Amino acid sequence: MKEFDYVIIGGGCAGLSLAYELEIHEKLKEKTLAIVEPRTDYIRDKTWSFWRVIPHNFEDCIIKSWKNFTINSPNQIKYIDCKDTPYQTIDSGLFYKKIVDRINQNKNIKFIKNLNEIDASNSIKFNSVYKLEDKKDNLWQHFCGIEIETDQDFFDDEIFNLMDFACDQRNRVHFFYTLPFSKRKALVETTWISELNNDKLNDYDQQIDDYLSKHLNIRNCKVNYKELGAIPLFRIKKIKKQREIYIGSAGDMTRLSTGYTFLNIQEHSKYIRQNIEKIEDTQLFEIKKKYEFLDKIFLKVLKNNSSQMGEIFYKLFNNSPRSVINFLSNKSNLKEDLEIISKMPKWIFLKELF
Ligand SMILES: Cc1cc2nc3c(=O)[nH]c(=O)nc-3n(C[C@H](O)[C@H](O)[C@H](O)COP(=O)(O)OP(=O)(O)OC[C@H]3O[C@@H](n4cnc5c(N)ncnc54)[C@H](O)[C@@H]3O)c2cc1C
Repeated sequence: MKEFDYVIIGGGCAGLSLAYELEIHEKLKEKTLAIVEPRTDYIRDKTWSFWRVIPHNFEDCIIKSWKNFTINSPNQIKYIDCKDTPYQTIDSGLFYKKIVDRINQNKNIKFIKNLNEIDASNSIKFNSVYKLEDKKDNLWQHFCGIEIETDQDFFDDEIFNLMDFACDQRNRVHFFYTLPFSKRKALVETTWISELNNDKLNDYDQQIDDYLSKHLNIRNCKVNYKELGAIPLFRIKKIKKQREIYIGSAGDMTRLSTGYTFLNIQEHSKYIRQNIEKIEDTQLFEIKKKYEFLDKIFLKVLKNNSSQMGEIFYKLFNNSPRSVINFLSNKSNLKEDLEIISKMPKWIFLKELF
């Protein structure tokens, strides 16, 4: 059976980002790479968004970028400027095509469907696949979004809505998220932070229909695309194996308080590429411990005070936008951390600390 120097298990966001990073930096000229991926077609299946706090390889896969956004609590609306770190949205279809086209040109890289097809016993493995054992009290960010197209100009495409809490909360945390790609086209997403697989929360289509017709006043529109997602907001214990490094969500690249993962994956890929020659002796790449600590407290607050979370998120944005964006993107300094902590309702947070 054929042997490879490197094996990437899972050719999704993290696996392909890493392969691309290695390829464009010419780390695969003398080395071989197998990407284990069961899917037969790469089609748009996710919409990745983030504040652009660091450069990345996928500027040409951006559908739209915004310099302003809003956040709505039931009775208030806040306008926030993010011109220094625009919010960008990537079309996963363009991302997959760009990477697959590039790596197909290198004969040292092979896609395979199953790990059993090769001898990986001596390979260094980068694994983005893991098995989840969900427990009753685990928190998830789960959502359903549709890209709609209206027959008349409707949206202000200069500004997106990060969170609109003016919707049915059902004793959980629920908000809508709207990304207007043009005056007639937008992704509208219903998002929950709660347990998963609760039938009382999963009527996503109805939630979106109600929001469109009763809240946004859109009665006629075409649906171009739909996405469903569930991001675990907890860490998964994995078995440590020799010569195997976890990447992507499996590699703990998700920020627990927000679900943001895409840019962390890009930083991780860069780190692996910079250290690839001595990767076995290199320290694991991690999201800074302070965020793990603060996010765990935040999620405890969220779980036990769901009815107040709309207000708490709204208050978070009373800080300078730059500080909040840096904080949410794991780029904040101590001054910014303290600024954010000082604006949070102290008693609620202190209670969850102990
Ligand atoms: C719908 C959706 C929207 C998201 N939006 C955002 C966002 O806006 N911003 C953000 O920062 N994060 C977002 N995330 C979170 C995160 O960025 C994505 O989940 C991202 O795709 C994680 O990358 P990954 O490589 O870990 O997992 P994936 O991209 O899911 O890749 C895993 C790959 O492994 C393959 N696979 C599965 N089983 C096996 C197996 N047994 N052997 C080999 N391969 C296998 C799968 O086919 C898949 O291609 C979103 C997540 C979802 C689900």
